[in-house]
Amino acid sequence: MKTQFTRLRGMQDQVLGSVAPWQQLERSVQQAMHAYGYGEMRTPLLERTSLFKRSIGESTDIVEKEMYTFADRNDELLTLRPENTAGCVRAAIENGLLQPGSVSRVWYSGPMFRYERPQLGRLRQFHQTGAEVYGLAGPEIEAELILLSARLWRELGIGDAVQLEINTLGDADDRAVYRDKLVAYFSEHADELDEDSQRRLERNPLRILDSKNPAMQDLIASAPALRDSLSEASLAHFDQLKALLLGAGITPIENSRLVRGLDYYSHTVFEWTTDKLGSQSAVCAGGRYDGLMEQMGAKNMPGVGWAFGMERVIALMEALEVTHERATPDVFVMVTDEVSSADSLALAEWVRKLVPGHSVLHNTIAGSLKSQFRKADKSGATVALVVGSQEQADGTVTLKPLLGGGEQGTVARSDLLTYLERLLLP
Ligand code: ATP
Ligand code: MG
Repeated sequence: MKTQFTRLRGMQDQVLGSVAPWQQLERSVQQAMHAYGYGEMRTPLLERTSLFKRSIGESTDIVEKEMYTFADRNDELLTLRPENTAGCVRAAIENGLLQPGSVSRVWYSGPMFRYERPQLGRLRQFHQTGAEVYGLAGPEIEAELILLSARLWRELGIGDAVQLEINTLGDADDRAVYRDKLVAYFSEHADELDEDSQRRLERNPLRILDSKNPAMQDLIASAPALRDSLSEASLAHFDQLKALLLGAGITPIENSRLVRGLDYYSHTVFEWTTDKLGSQSAVCAGGRYDGLMEQMGAKNMPGVGWAFGMERVIALMEALEVTHERATPDVFVMVTDEVSSADSLALAEWVRKLVPGHSVLHNTIAGSLKSQFRKADKSGATVALVVGSQEQADGTVTLKPLLGGGEQGTVARSDLLTYLERLLLP
């Protein structure tokens, strides 16, 4: 139906059946986070613009061109969160989580907003689930976070379709050394730089390495490697992480061009990628961000985390046909003219108490049994129940299995639970 109002470009409705894989994913996320001892954080979708500028960095794609920013009625500049590492750190500081010596493991899930060109796998309102750990500086916690994500992929049935890529950016000192080398190299080749890269040369030369412009790739490939500027300690951190991952059965691909688009990373950065989703191949991304807390006004404290795009994970689940949630009722309660609607309503209530956790749909509208059976079949329910005047008088229920054959029959109310339990076995 044509309507006067349509949803905004790059934003999606999830309607009825399409919500099922989301619920499956959300359940697996909750289980995995619980299994690793991570606690949930729920923060506002709207934050001060300055929060994102300060944390993500002024010269990043997100802050330069992707944020939904507006002035509210009081002329305060606000932004719909484009990611949630900044919001979580803000909340952790504000709620006193970041005490010296303390460790917090947190996770979140929800909508993010970026003004990008909408295309397959790229939306303006999309959703991320993320995990963050504050207070641990060693590579063990990076390994734990990566194992947590790997377990989730396995649980969801997409483990074989994703590959871990890792790199190290070293610490701030390493990067200062490297930055100078890069500026020297790219300045020598200034005439080969595209417009974006020219702008980045002064402000954020590392981001040139992140360019997706095909014309820039040769120049980038010959640039000095960050590896050669890393200190012994940084290299040791990275080697330890790789050893921990290998020991846990995860073989990462080292990708020295992986720099990530945000300014706050240091040491380890990583991405889970797939070749099953066309050009939007990044499923999950993360890294260490020591220095962010201090940048945001807290005491210096290490941090590390990742976030995955829920739409992309669901697209992968659908491509691999591993979704299994059904948005259908289990029991369909019919309504006959022979008994009062109060009676059929009471029957449905009673059945809900008998088989908690199952979905019991009360048809509400009386009609011919034939049309109600048709509707029950269409609903995908496992079993239909009918109570007419005879059943009412006898204290029985007529029960018809709708899936997998099975005879229609009339059973005593006291036996109904036994029948339903057998029929509703998963
Ligand atoms: P990309 O290179 O695809 O733009 P990104 O580096 O901007 O990704 P991050 O900010 O690291 O992405 O976000 C983590 C994950 O969130 C991505 O790997 C991706 O799965 C998902 N994601 C990011 N932007 C979008 C978007 N506009 N629509 C859908 N998913 C997105
Ligand atoms: Mg992006």
